[in-house]
Amino acid sequence: MSRPIPRPSPTEQPFYEACARGELKLQYCKPCTRFLFYPRTHCDRCHSPQLDWEQVSGKGTIASYTVVRRAVSEAFTAPYIIALIDLAEGPRMMSQVINAEPDALAVGHTVSVDFAAWSDEIKLPVFRLQGVPSEAGPSHHADSEGKT
Ligand SMILES: [Zn+2]
Repeated sequence: MSRPIPRPSPTEQPFYEACARGELKLQYCKPCTRFLFYPRTHCDRCHSPQLDWEQVSGKGTIASYTVVRRAVSEAFTAPYIIALIDLAEGPRMMSQVINAEPDALAVGHTVSVDFAAWSDEIKLPVFRLQGVPSEAGPSHHADSEGKT
């Protein structure tokens, strides 16, 4: 059983093209002044079709994670770590944390993006542990929600 290969739609194409170059790019909605993920044709908040692709830092924090100890198929090597990453720019992304012991992980740890070849043509973003946040660190971004 081979692993599923993403087939990028025209909307998703710029995301995968950036990944292939080792860049993480997200759509940015100017009217809302915020980044979006997943790729879409219109902003889900203001419905603007004018979304610009911009490179982001690739930094984020672990919002939650799970250690998969039994792989779903032979194409995956267990154990591996699936995490929800809150990107520094706002959006939440589901991804894999690589080169980390499951015991070393915790919610709030900072990670940075890397890219792993998924097939000959497709690279996908994965994340590596950056370090442990200070005990007194901020728990969330003040500007992440609420309207103006
Ligand atoms: Zn918008």
